[in-house]
Amino acid sequence: MLFDNPDALLICAFKREHALCDPDPGANAPRQYECRPGCGNAVRTDTHARLLRERADEIYQLSVHAPKPVGKRLRAHADRLRETTEAHFAAARPTEEWT
Ligand code: SF4
Repeated sequence: MLFDNPDALLICAFKREHALCDPDPGANAPRQYECRPGCGNAVRTDTHARLLRERADEIYQLSVHAPKPVGKRLRAHADRLRETTEAHFAAARPTEEWT
């Protein structure tokens, strides 16, 4: 079953046994508010990845104006989002390769 998760900019192809959001035993839906990076159930389209890159840029801009400890954490978060985006596009294949 697929669940749209616009806050995390992904689609969750929910399989409870692989979920990192710690759903209850027997749950048939994810705990999307606890969505975790690196979950094998996460699927991103190119649009999701582009929006994630934009979010990383926004967070980086916030970090520039934030006090040092907060800015450091914001930059680390922006870096993680960029890494996720880069991994998405590095793994992407043109549709011609699917046939
Ligand atoms: S961690 Fe996120 S992607 Fe993984 S099952 Fe939970 S909501 Fe879905």
